Amino acid sequence: MKINLSDGSSIQITVSKKTMKNIRLRVCRDGRVCVSAPYGTAESRIYEFVNSKKGWIESHIRNFQKAENPNTMQFLGSEYAFEVVKDRRTGVALNGNNITVFCTDPGKHKEVVETWWKQQAAEMFSTFVDKWYPLVCGEEDDRKPLVKVRKMQTLWGSCTSSERTIRLNYYLMCASADCIEYVVLHELIHLIHPNHGPEFRSFLAANMPDWKERKAKLEQECSGLRMA
Ligand SMILES: [Zn+2]
Repeated sequence: MKINLSDGSSIQITVSKKTMKNIRLRVCRDGRVCVSAPYGTAESRIYEFVNSKKGWIESHIRNFQKAENPNTMQFLGSEYAFEVVKDRRTGVALNGNNITVFCTDPGKHKEVVETWWKQQAAEMFSTFVDKWYPLVCGEEDDRKPLVKVRKMQTLWGSCTSSERTIRLNYYLMCASADCIEYVVLHELIHLIHPNHGPEFRSFLAANMPDWKERKAKLEQECSGLRMA
């Protein structure tokens, strides 16, 4: 099945029929777009469904292309041109829309970027923890959680309240700051409400009324994205 995208190009969609209830669409890691539908679903119904998800497909494909381009890098929701410069110093400089990585051995630039990225992540995450922790646990509570930056494949964050530890995904730094703030607050609330029950939801909505928009923006900005 082929659909036309808004830039005039067309894309091939792989269709498979399965025992399932609803039509499901996904963009695979290699950029292929696959749709699975229950046995007996009419082709026209599948076409209609895929066509209605065109915007979603386009944003996923864009993100895959960004992730595959070694000369660009997404950081805090913006796209940067990325270059490696051989230098006596080691470090990363942000200038306008450019990220320059200085290193003595350009072959090791990934390590330099990773160290810098982790520092940036740790700083940003703890800024948001400092901002929200007193609101969630109370001014007088001094058991601020330990924040760990981890590369995770499926979660933006997790909270182990018994250990007072919050793990936040390394790749969150691809997202805009307001999306990161949402994830930090979400995990902090788990210190007092372990599940996503009504108490959790009303606390979140009362303190961050636009959390749904932030969450949707996060998924849009970071679907399928992995940095260099
Ligand atoms: Zn949660």
